[in-house]
Formats: sequence, structure tokens, C-alpha cells
Amino acid sequence: MISFNIPPHIGKELDYIKEAISAHKISGDGQFSKMCSKWLEEKTGASKALLTTSCTHALEMAAILAGVQPGDEVIMPSYTFVSTADAFVLRGAKIVFVDIRPDTMNIDENLIEDAITEKTRVIVPVHYAGVACEMDKINAIAKKHQLKVVEDAAQGIMSTYKGQALGTLSDYGCYSFHETKNYSMGEGGAILIKNEKDIERAEIIREKGTNRSKFFRGQIDKYTWVDYGSSYLPSDMNAAYLWAQLEKADEINTQRLNTWNLYSEGLQNLVDSGKIELPYIPKECVHNAHMFYVKIKDLEERTKLIDYLKESGILTVFHYIPLHTSPAGKRFGRFNGKDEYTTKESERLLRLPMYYGLDNHEVEYIIEKIEKFFIHN
Ligand SMILES: *Cc1c(COP(=O)(O)O)cnc(C)c1O
Repeated sequence: MISFNIPPHIGKELDYIKEAISAHKISGDGQFSKMCSKWLEEKTGASKALLTTSCTHALEMAAILAGVQPGDEVIMPSYTFVSTADAFVLRGAKIVFVDIRPDTMNIDENLIEDAITEKTRVIVPVHYAGVACEMDKINAIAKKHQLKVVEDAAQGIMSTYKGQALGTLSDYGCYSFHETKNYSMGEGGAILIKNEKDIERAEIIREKGTNRSKFFRGQIDKYTWVDYGSSYLPSDMNAAYLWAQLEKADEINTQRLNTWNLYSEGLQNLVDSGKIELPYIPKECVHNAHMFYVKIKDLEERTKLIDYLKESGILTVFHYIPLHTSPAGKRFGRFNGKDEYTTKESERLLRLPMYYGLDNHEVEYIIEKIEKFFIHN
């Protein structure tokens, strides 16, 4: 069986975890957490990067930092993971879903302004498959209406938009290091902060509402409870696992891109004969090969293809069921405008195996099987 995903593993992870244990520092913000944060800051240019227990929690922190209050409205695509919405619903916000662009599966920047009301507080672009949303336009709209922007860049580490790292194009950017992402620590994430003035509050929220981070830096004599917050910092053992991969980030990225390109070239014949469509990468975007998907005629054909590939020992997976059609989505949100592409395009999309360590021969075998399927379909 060719798996759909295998969590990234370089080989040094266990050594680093042992190091964390020997240093008697297994809770948060030990040496590995610090190395990972510093790496993220240097790589992305963010003023501050703080490791979190998940991207979901990074989004929760961003929702608090953005000052979201009960009754506020938050604009996002319906074609996304539940966490994008959950983080804001927990603050009492109402979610306003906007349709996606069929080419990138990202929020349609031209439909955002129509969804804005006097209650709107935040826009949340989700960089699907590590391909950037049209951030210049989104930021211009946010500026005009005085809104905050939070990037769900869970899939976007190592990707850029006009040369700038995803997650640093707005007030707050959120990364995921879940085992399904390009770099992992099992469960984990990070929040990237653009403005210096937000850093102290972010540290406080992440440390149970205390100014403990300041205390550890020797800036104050004792720490105390200064605000509300939660415990959003991961164990240093998890950070140790992540560090092994960040050290080899370029190698992982290059290998994933090679796999992606192999798929893209190998499936070109099917594109030319009009059987499938492949991901579109706008020219201002550099992506990280987080995902390789194909789009086929419809749901029925997709189900057939999934079954056919499974019989050939290949596991492929569809993706989000649009949030606005789910029970919680109906309860906490509304869809603004027409669902022209969200449902239709989500039903056509199929993700192919993609992970660090996927063999070229396996990719060639997958391409061959997809071609074979379309001889009869
Ligand atoms: C993976 C993912 C998340 C959630 O990440 P966790 O680290 O598992 O909390 C959120 N949004 C998107 C778009 C994702 O792909």
C-alpha cells in the first residue's frame, strides 16, 4: 500500500528528545523551543514567532489578540478546516463565509468587500495547499475598513507571496506542525507576530495570563497574573522532534517539490485531453509542495477513481466538506453571496500521496494508474 501521508522523520529526532530529557527541561520554552522560534523568525522575518500546542491554538491566540468580541463577524472561506472557524466561535464571533476561487481554492478576494458589515472585525485568508491568497488586495480592503487580518498559514510554511513568507503578510500568522504537515512535532504550531507592540500581550496570553516570559528574561523580579490567558506552549520534547526537521528544512522542501513536479509533468497528458485539472500557482507565489491534488469531472467520477486506486494499493483522500453545510457551520455562520464554487470544486478535488520520503517510482506508478483509469472513463 502507498500511504497518503507518512509523518516527516529525519532520523535525529530521538537524539534531540534524549537531549531535552538529559537537560532536565521537558516543559515549555526550553532550548529546543528557543532554537525553533529563532529559526522561524530568521526564516520568515516575523518580529516574533512563538511555538504553540497547535495551529488551532495559534488561531485562538490570534483571535484574542485581534480583540474579537461576542457578536463580531469574521470573514473566511467555507472551504477550510474547522479550526479556522472554531478559534473565533470560541470568542463568540459569528462566521461569515465567502466563496472561493476555483483556480487556487482560496477565498475570492473580490467577494470579501460585499460581506463586510459594521460588525466585521477580522478577515481570515487560508493559504490552501501552501499557495498564497491575493494578500495585497485583502490587506487593502482590511485597511480601508479598519479590520484585522489573521492568516491561517497552517499549510504555508516555506511558501512566499511576492517574496515574503506566508504568515508574515498580516497582523498574525498561524502555522501547524501537525503530523500531516510538511514539518511536524506530532501536535504543534506557531504564531507569527508582525507588530512589536503585540509581542508582550501574546507572551502573556500564552503563559496563562502571567508575565512569566518577562520574568525568565530577568526583566522583572517576580511574575504575577496580569491578564486572562491559557497554556499554549508545547513541551520541549515536542520541539526537539521539530528541530530535527527545521535543520533539514530545505532538503525536505526540495524533495517535496521534486515529487510535486514529477506529478505535474507526468499528468500533463490527461490535462491536455481535458480529463483532469491540476493546481494553479499564481506567478507571485512560490509554494512548498504541501499538497498535490487533481480535479476531475464530479463526485461520482471521484468516488470511482478513489476505489480504483485503492484496489491498486494507492491511498488518496478528498478534502474539506464545506463548513457552511455542517451542523456547527449552520449554527455559527452564514454564507454571504452565492456558493458558486465552494461545494462544486470541493467535490471534484482529490489529494494524491505526498510526503517526505515518497519514492519516485511510487509516484510514477501512481501516475500510470491514473492514466489507466481514464482510458476507460
Ligand atoms: C492543519 C490545519 C489546521 C489545524 O492545525 P492543527 O495544528 O492540527 O491545530 C488549521 N487550518 C488549516 C488550513 C489546516 O490545514
